Amino acid sequence: MKIVYRIDQALCVSCGTCDMECRFGAIRISDQGKFSIDAEVCRGCGLCAASCPVDAAVKA
Ligand code: SF4
Ligand code: SF4
Repeated sequence: MKIVYRIDQALCVSCGTCDMECRFGAIRISDQGKFSIDAEVCRGCGLCAASCPVDAAVKA
């Protein structure tokens, strides 16, 4: 099964680090400034999880 990551909205502080780290352009930012991960684009590399300061990027 394909491994993808998701962002726990309760933990995310919208710092944008994951967006800078993701090499595949999988991070989405809503009009309200909420960060999420496009599961269709995510390759499961884990760079977002490794770089997130509050451990908000987790395996889906
Ligand atoms: S790095 Fe973590 S806290 Fe920052 S926007 Fe991404 S998920 Fe949210
Ligand atoms: S796991 Fe990798 S490809 Fe998926 S959103 Fe995080 S940094 Fe991007």
